[in-house]
Amino acid sequence: MVNEQYKIIKEIKEYASVNKVPIMMDEGIDFLTTYIIKNKKRHILEIGTAIGYSAIMMALCNKEIQITSIERDEVRYMEAVKNIKRMGLENQITLLYQDALNVRLDDTFDLIFLDGAKGQNRKFFELFERNLEDNGSIITDNIYFHGLVMKNENEIESKNVRGIVRKIKDYISFLKTNENYETTIYEIGDGISVSQKKGS
Ligand code: SAM
Repeated sequence: MVNEQYKIIKEIKEYASVNKVPIMMDEGIDFLTTYIIKNKKRHILEIGTAIGYSAIMMALCNKEIQITSIERDEVRYMEAVKNIKRMGLENQITLLYQDALNVRLDDTFDLIFLDGAKGQNRKFFELFERNLEDNGSIITDNIYFHGLVMKNENEIESKNVRGIVRKIKDYISFLKTNENYETTIYEIGDGISVSQKKGS
């Protein structure tokens, strides 16, 4: 990475902090990029671009990596377009401004990274696993949802949050009992799951 790119990434992180845009924690990004490099991932689908931070960090792992990333929020999508252009990564990252649940893709990917609405993870998984290559894996961030997944439901005041927590718990047991994948949950950042497709 050249100095100018470091500067832009620092600015992207500052923008996220000032504007309260949730982006991956440093620990999570380190884990994800190490995983990509170690496992030689080249075709990545990301659900939840936000302002392009994680897509940029993944693209920087290797010049051959191609990423498709989906974002439904217009302001964030526009910011991501700008950031990716500033980084000169337009040839590696394709952004789609859509609700991922309405997207159908023909392409295949060796890594699918789920970082959209946390209560929709199972829907994302079931929708996009058809796009996963035989040696592929699906990574999900924030599997512990700010630690709330470990809490007793009665301790969570908001009905809305309780609903999301219930869906995440359902997603975790869906992953653990899914015989087509070997899932490991890592105690990194807010919890990251890696589901490796079996038989590959
Ligand atoms: N991956 C980003 C990063 O680390 O730089 C952070 C993504 S942020 C945690 C989640 C993003 O997913 C939000 O910007 C939100 O608008 C978007 N999102 C949530 N549900 C979505 C959906 N169904 N389709 C597309 N984008 C979605």
